[in-house]
Amino acid sequence: MPQAQTALVETARGPVEVPALGPTLMHEHIFVLTADVQANYPGEWGSEEERIADAARRLTELRRAGIKTIVDVTVIGQGRDIARIKKIAGQVPELNIVVATGCYTFDEVPMFFWRRTASDEAMAGRPAKDPMADYFIGDITEGIAGTGVKAGMLKCAVDAKGLTEGVERVLRNVARAHVATGGTPITIHTHAAARHGPAILDVLRAEDVDLSRVVLGHSGDAVRDPDYLEQMAASGLTLGMDRFGIDHFASFQDRSDLVVELCRRGLAGSMVLAHDTCCYIDWFAPGTLAPLKNWHYLHVSQDVLPYLREHGVSDADIDAMLVGNPARVLSGLSRRLANTED
Ligand SMILES: [Zn+2]
Repeated sequence: MPQAQTALVETARGPVEVPALGPTLMHEHIFVLTADVQANYPGEWGSEEERIADAARRLTELRRAGIKTIVDVTVIGQGRDIARIKKIAGQVPELNIVVATGCYTFDEVPMFFWRRTASDEAMAGRPAKDPMADYFIGDITEGIAGTGVKAGMLKCAVDAKGLTEGVERVLRNVARAHVATGGTPITIHTHAAARHGPAILDVLRAEDVDLSRVVLGHSGDAVRDPDYLEQMAASGLTLGMDRFGIDHFASFQDRSDLVVELCRRGLAGSMVLAHDTCCYIDWFAPGTLAPLKNWHYLHVSQDVLPYLREHGVSDADIDAMLVGNPARVLSGLSRRLANTED
């Protein structure tokens, strides 16, 4: 039986009720930019209006392909600009865009946080508490940079170098913001081949994180390691099969077959899907991304879902990965409550 929905999920156009989320891509970007480089070398970016129009056009296509919600996991370190995202959201009125807070680093924290530590606070006569989490909490509870848009997800990264001092500091502050805000979901960029999952879990458990609200991002890169992913899913977290289209180090078939295999193992309830793509990223020289022909917003809808169905993944499993699991992670409602069809 459908139950009354009370939990709301924040988007770039304000809060929406859980059943309005529908098919959801849990890890995308719109723009990934090096903000101070853009301010000084804006030539490649070009016209702001044209970039916004291009994004609105691509996201309208995505909505027409049946996706109703994306999570834009662009945070500090990736050129987040929520005023710009709000403009785009206004031009794509039927697509929900959940925005994120957090910090993306593979090693050290940004210089801004370098001298804003617990001991700096004490030196200034304030309580000796790391102030980083308060920035994230403000984005969730009050909104971002005067836009009124509130973050609906927390994001950090643990890449090949693992839990360096800076990376662990961000992870702990993300975890503290999650706890302080009643369970705001967390997505963590990981380097799947390095198998940092257990070390990440140690930190999350020590900080009392609700693992049912955590996505272990880029798990889908571990195309030869379903056993590792099965172990990670046993903790209660959700696996991000979220780089469809990044085919140069894991092919379309390998990425898809991994999802098929994990569904065969009964883990459809532990996976979410996405591309980790964007409309423009300044981290690559012009033209170098051209070989990634599948790296666009429509690849899951047009290619991945048909492949999964052809290889025995049931509609119920696809619904779980695309609708039920995202709703559960984003809202905290149990899968049964979040899925109005039950
Ligand atoms: Zn990403």
